[in-house]
Amino acid sequence: MTIALIVHGGAWAIPDDEVAEHTAGCAAALEAGWRVLAAGGSALDAAETAVRVLEDAPIFDAGIGSVLNRDGFIEMDAAIMDGNSLRSGAVAAVQRVKNPITLARRVLESDVVLLVGHGAERVAASAGVNFCDPAALIVPREQQRFEYLRQKAQVHAQDAFMQHPGDTVGAVALDAIGNLAAATSTGGTAYKLPGRVGDSPLIGAGLYADNTTGGCSSTGWGESIIKVLLAKTATDAIPQVATPMLAAQQAVDILARRVGGYGGVILLDAHGRPGFAFNTPRMAYGYRTGVETVVSTERVV
Ligand code: ASP
Repeated sequence: MTIALIVHGGAWAIPDDEVAEHTAGCAAALEAGWRVLAAGGSALDAAETAVRVLEDAPIFDAGIGSVLNRDGFIEMDAAIMDGNSLRSGAVAAVQRVKNPITLARRVLESDVVLLVGHGAERVAASAGVNFCDPAALIVPREQQRFEYLRQKAQVHAQDAFMQHPGDTVGAVALDAIGNLAAATSTGGTAYKLPGRVGDSPLIGAGLYADNTTGGCSSTGWGESIIKVLLAKTATDAIPQVATPMLAAQQAVDILARRVGGYGGVILLDAHGRPGFAFNTPRMAYGYRTGVETVVSTERVV
């Protein structure tokens, strides 16, 4: 059977001098996730593994390197979904966990779907997920951005999103027995309100996976993505159009047209065919199938 993997490292105006680090991060995540799939591992394991690599890369807004909220803290959200059983696990506003996607995986294995804050961290303790010092996740780049944004009188969510990182990360994997999985992890939007949760940990918005259609991970301005359930919109489009590329474009067009939103999606269909689209200046992405490996930040012309 075919195996396939697609990852992203966020959709926004990625500056020229950050492109190389974004593509390197995506390439490393692809390699790690592919190793899992090639060894016969599950789509869930591959998606989790790829996202862990992206969380551990400080260039991305997930795990270490996450943006700070208005109080100067990191609050992270993550979710993972199994396209076979439609089970999912998500965590939101966690502060003391180095790899939120692994905590989301533990939630998937439990009998609830979404845990927030202290309750999620309590599960981490009992599920053997290591805690870390929240300060250890803050990088100088984000501390400086926080100081800069604090000095501005007013920050509009939309402007903040376009001018500051939207480096949320995600992965969609297809394993050798035909199961799909999707995973998304984020520090959210720069200078967000404490307690604010975006699309990333919400099933149907930030991710979706269903073996009968496809898998998707979204990135972009969360408040717009939630309104159109971007990931479900994209996977629902897969059976209706000729290629996953067209399905991705259709979903992003709906995001723009219907709610004036910004962002991007990565997709795999049930055969492992990749698709992606974004209406931001760039999106960091990479995919590997049996026939090709591509890593880029640019749209295909
Ligand atoms: N979608 C994320 C959020 O709104 C941000 C991003 O994708 O960069 O929290």
